[in-house]
Amino acid sequence: MDRFDVVVVGGGPAGAVAAQDLAEAGKRVALLDRDGRIKPCGGAIPPRLIADFAIPDEQLVARITTARMISPTKRRVDIPIENGFVGMVDREHFDAYLRDRAAAAGAVRLTGTFQAIERDGAGTHVVFRDKASGERRRLTTHLVIGADGARSNVAKAEVPGGDRIPYVIAYHEIIEAPAPTERYDPDRCDVIYDGAISPDFYGWVFPHGGQASVGMGTQHTGVDLKGATAALRAASGLADCRTIRKEGAPIPLKPLDRWDNGRDVVLAGDAAGVVAPSSGEGIYYAMVGGRVAATAALASLASGRASDLRLARRLFMKEHKGVFRVLGAMQDAYYKSDMRRERFVSLCHDVDVQKLTFEAYMNKKLVHARPLAHLKIGVKNLLHLAGIVAPTRV
Ligand SMILES: Cc1cc2nc3c(=O)[nH]c(=O)nc-3n(C[C@H](O)[C@H](O)[C@H](O)COP(=O)(O)OP(=O)(O)OC[C@H]3O[C@@H](n4cnc5c(N)ncnc54)[C@H](O)[C@@H]3O)c2cc1C
Repeated sequence: MDRFDVVVVGGGPAGAVAAQDLAEAGKRVALLDRDGRIKPCGGAIPPRLIADFAIPDEQLVARITTARMISPTKRRVDIPIENGFVGMVDREHFDAYLRDRAAAAGAVRLTGTFQAIERDGAGTHVVFRDKASGERRRLTTHLVIGADGARSNVAKAEVPGGDRIPYVIAYHEIIEAPAPTERYDPDRCDVIYDGAISPDFYGWVFPHGGQASVGMGTQHTGVDLKGATAALRAASGLADCRTIRKEGAPIPLKPLDRWDNGRDVVLAGDAAGVVAPSSGEGIYYAMVGGRVAATAALASLASGRASDLRLARRLFMKEHKGVFRVLGAMQDAYYKSDMRRERFVSLCHDVDVQKLTFEAYMNKKLVHARPLAHLKIGVKNLLHLAGIVAPTRV
């Protein structure tokens, strides 16, 4: 009963997708999650995710049609989201839905806390503490997918560098959404680039229907996260809204150079350090990570070669390396000082910049169609970084 082809540790978006794909491919798969904590998350997902992973309408608690960028001097640039919307999900229900979907496909759900991977003559074993009985249990398996999120215990124990992934700490408060006003629009995301809120990342107000997520992130240890969020709520007119939850969690900053241990473990999602630079977007990339980990596991199970586990990272990077590189360069260039942030928001006035960044976000593609627009953006970018042009006045 406790023998599997694959044990997936962690039932967030990465693990749930991996387990579903493996079960649909006819493999005997266990999905282990400790359960009991809602993942702290802004919950913004792009149309590409909704389409690729068939997310039903009921999971969307809001549809965002405008992104408002706010600069340190409170300039605002409203970017209309053309041909679609950014979806908002509530992670309490979204993650449970994905886990149920994996179980419906045939994955065996187990609730408990992962403790260790052990190996002996009989094979590889995943050891966990069962939540209901409190007992220590051992599952025997050919392969393990480590999808246990940021600061993954599987990554720390099994994959070189898994214990040294750099992080932004993100903190947010879930509040009761106010009635719509000029300052709060339930169909608009606000993204705040202001060193007083975050010296190296950004702050946000993301509507979620009856609730909203208000928060910020930073890599600096000395920043008062709660103080910065209180300042953001005050500046957004949300200070008096009832607070439902306060919570924080790390967001990884850099994908690991290797996602497998060359033997029987492959990582997916935050566990592999995979979150988009600049935006901190991780849900879509976690789900893709789960999918490529499942593909690599299937290849390895079929061939008997451990080296096939490397396929996971290779497949992921083939498709997403370009977008990660552009977003990384943007973060390096513009998140360093208020002067740079001011220029970044100013650059967002440009319709071509809006199209380029939104295409990269919405559909996960760099647009190649308009070389002249790219050239113009490149030149503007340089002029802004060199301080040769002044930020646009609004
Ligand atoms: C404050 C904040 C806001 C964010 N906002 C956004 C956003 O708006 N949009 C976006 O795309 N991304 C956002 N992100 C990033 C996104 O939440 C993550 O990238 C994403 O959840 C990663 O999915 P995952 O499946 O890899 O890991 P997780 O979602 O962290 O799932 C890991 C799972 O593993 C389980 N687990 C962990 N340890 C163990 C253990 N020892 N035993 C058993 N189970 C275990 C946990 O219970 C959890 O279910 C945000 C992150 C933070 C912190």
